[in-house]
Amino acid sequence: MITDTHRRVTIRFALPPRGLAPNGSFGFWPGHARAAKAYRTECFWDAVLWARNHEPQAPFVIAEIALAFVYCQTRRLRRYCPTDIDNAIAATKPLRDGLVDAGLLVTDTAQRLRFGSVTISRHARHRSGEGCPGSAVVVTLREVGNAA
Ligand SMILES: [Zn+2]
Repeated sequence: MITDTHRRVTIRFALPPRGLAPNGSFGFWPGHARAAKAYRTECFWDAVLWARNHEPQAPFVIAEIALAFVYCQTRRLRRYCPTDIDNAIAATKPLRDGLVDAGLLVTDTAQRLRFGSVTISRHARHRSGEGCPGSAVVVTLREVGNAA
């Protein structure tokens, strides 16, 4: 039976590398696999570090994942800043793999993981002397079921 357990965590990750932009935007296809592997490892460690600083979490069995891309339009970023939702979702496949690797998700198959809101927003231009809050993919996992 599927019941909402109300468990929810929010974790901040780096934006995907540019190599995960759709083919043809930056570089060539062979770089894609390498970028995906690097980003998966990066997200794994971000999730592990997050877990060390929070209450222990059993893996989410059936979950909804929300993605909030936030990036700066003032700074020149070496990361992929998606402008459409489909590409944003595709570029975070390694992030989802990293969440599984880190033990936060049981799996990222469609039966067990569904998408919640996916948003893309940019910082307004910063005034001089104003700090930049940084660019990130903010991931919120919500457990919507815990049946095995
Ligand atoms: Zn900024």
